[in-house]
Amino acid sequence: MAGETTSRFWEEVVKVTLAFVAEPEQVGFPLWTAPLTTPLLASCLTAAGHEVELLDTRLCEAPLADELAATSGDVVAISFMSHSRDEAFEVAALCREQGRITIGGGAHPTVLPGELVDSGLFDHVVRGEGERTLPRLVTDIERGRRPEEQVLQGEPFDLLDYPQPRDDAAYRDVYRPPSFVSTSRAASLTGLTAEAVAELASRDDGLVDVDALRGLSAERFPATREFRSIYLELGRGCPFHCRYCTIQNDWFAPKAGRARPLADVVAEVRYFVDRYDTNYVILVDSIAPAYPDFARFAEFMKTDLPDVEFSFNCTSTHFTPAVAEALAGANCLVWFGFETASPRLLRALRKPGNARTQLRATELCAEHGIRFGANLLLGVPGETTEDYELTMEFLAETRPHSPNPNILTPLPGTDTYRRCLDEGLLRDPGHYRSWTADQIRTRGHGPLLGVDYDRVLSYHRRMLELDRTGEVVHVERGCHLKPHE
Ligand code: SF4
Repeated sequence: MAGETTSRFWEEVVKVTLAFVAEPEQVGFPLWTAPLTTPLLASCLTAAGHEVELLDTRLCEAPLADELAATSGDVVAISFMSHSRDEAFEVAALCREQGRITIGGGAHPTVLPGELVDSGLFDHVVRGEGERTLPRLVTDIERGRRPEEQVLQGEPFDLLDYPQPRDDAAYRDVYRPPSFVSTSRAASLTGLTAEAVAELASRDDGLVDVDALRGLSAERFPATREFRSIYLELGRGCPFHCRYCTIQNDWFAPKAGRARPLADVVAEVRYFVDRYDTNYVILVDSIAPAYPDFARFAEFMKTDLPDVEFSFNCTSTHFTPAVAEALAGANCLVWFGFETASPRLLRALRKPGNARTQLRATELCAEHGIRFGANLLLGVPGETTEDYELTMEFLAETRPHSPNPNILTPLPGTDTYRRCLDEGLLRDPGHYRSWTADQIRTRGHGPLLGVDYDRVLSYHRRMLELDRTGEVVHVERGCHLKPHE
């Protein structure tokens, strides 16, 4: 380490701003959980000796230009998905005006690097994983030997090098939740009237202490629970090629699964629970039970942290009797990517699973008392009323805790997008924003031509009516994490 410091003595130190550009998670709640991507990259950059700061556009209160002007990175690395392409390009353009070096990374730059190059707004693009390649690129910039290639393929990250913990100073600057909120915000968070909240305002400036909200009795505070959540990775990789999913591409990362050591995962969960009172862990793995130590992870959560809930994604094919047994008694929610119960559509989407595996997965959940949610896909070209009725029958029979209907917006880099483009079905091929049910209702049309959106909206509503979650209220802006002083 000392040698490294000495060898870099005469170099210009380049500071990096890592900008996470994304759509708000929900109206009124721009951010429920701090992202993994940029904090992880920040830790990797810091470990390589670089100075880093984070920016999350969802938390910007001032105009974007002012927020960017307040950052000081010589290099601005912008991470974004296709939905947020326009905002990310705006960020890049503003950075360029300020004479900064711009680097694009994340899902959209990975599938369409040429679009970034052609825009003239990005000096470099990192495709795929950036944990190794970005620090190396920044070091090269620092040493005045920038690579000639604009597009760099990210080197797969060795999960043994996963930084721990990943809440360094840059993270805490951005994702520390406020101790006080405005009365209007407190009212929207709690469901209390403005007058009732005003009584709680303990300061001259009318702000409400977040701890005072937590201390409200159940009769006065109708929230049923408060999430203080983190995202967590057990490993990476998905062996499947669902036609609508960008993960199907090999550019992101090797398809073969990679796993973090269980001891590291356990230490990370403990750290966040001890330091931030985290009470909800969201596993981001494509198929968490594919993690070789999944049963031991479930056992750890059950026995050591029974009050900390965790949720994870799974296909019906990976939900075996052994997985169900391991989860019996766990405080967890399984998200099944069922998408549809129509065998015809499952095949068309190249979705793993069939009616038999779907039913078996739900029966195993019922048998072992495991709550499950159902991700469902609507607005698929060629779908019929019969397909929808099969899905409704399945939902009525299996009663998921939480049905989650999503309306298809084809994303670049997927088979679905290519097919829709070839067939002339895309209403606007350059429009990548996700379409919500409300937007479709207001505009009277959706992203695809030839799809019956009246029918889509009708089934969307009927699926939501089956929800059994109850009221959920988040108390804090940001990631809901409260560091112990
Ligand atoms: S299983 Fe999930 S993550 Fe994997 S390709 Fe299909 S939708 Fe994508």
